[in-house]
Amino acid sequence: MKIARAVATALLTLAGVARADGAGSQSLYVYSTINALLAGAYEGDQTVGSVRQHNDFAIGTFNGLDGELVAWDGVFFHVRADGSVKPASDDERIPLVYALPFKPTVSSELGADAAGSLKALEASLDKQLANPNAFWAVQIRGRLASVTTRAIPRQARPYVPLAEAAKHQATWTRTDLDGTLIGLRSPAFSAGISVPGWHWHFVSGDKSIGGHVLAGSLSSGVLRAQELTRMQLELPATSDFLAVDQRDRSSELKQVEGAR
Ligand SMILES: [Zn+2]
Repeated sequence: MKIARAVATALLTLAGVARADGAGSQSLYVYSTINALLAGAYEGDQTVGSVRQHNDFAIGTFNGLDGELVAWDGVFFHVRADGSVKPASDDERIPLVYALPFKPTVSSELGADAAGSLKALEASLDKQLANPNAFWAVQIRGRLASVTTRAIPRQARPYVPLAEAAKHQATWTRTDLDGTLIGLRSPAFSAGISVPGWHWHFVSGDKSIGGHVLAGSLSSGVLRAQELTRMQLELPATSDFLAVDQRDRSSELKQVEGAR
């Protein structure tokens, strides 16, 4: 029997304070799930152009697991394992993305406690951002003492799980540079759909380096942040998504987020 292909769209209202009319509450758009990506569902039918219609801020990847997606101010960047950082074109396809129209309500200079390591930055933000049970979108423009990023090379079928593919990732470390960190903090209960805790992507000011952030140390920076109490989850209609085993993959997630 053939499984009917249908786009399943679920609207979930999370964490209390969203009003019925949605006023004052922007929605986080999620296409696919982190567990599907961990399991090897690397092809989606979503496009950069379609995501960009309603969103100007995003973290994700591209079909075939071809590098890393990072977007702010409506510019979607494609960071590849060959080290290139280029604007993505509208017809590029996406297997997983977290996107939103960024309307920050928090703006502040980061304090000295945010310097030294990614962990220190995250601990400092956790103190500032009031509700740990909401999603938070964060943009930091700043000076970094160091940053280590990665991008995974485009995969070919048959796809192996992400923990396997990530063994072939390209990594770069740079010191003393300007850049933009794009972060999403997801609550613990969103495990399986998102990466619980912080997830960072980066592009340097000169666009010479970018990717998924494995480690880093901020010297100074300006934070802009937005709380999100709504999430719109769209499940891909691809055969990959239908077929993969989306069991608990939290230990695999730790491996691939790693190197902190
Ligand atoms: Zn990432």
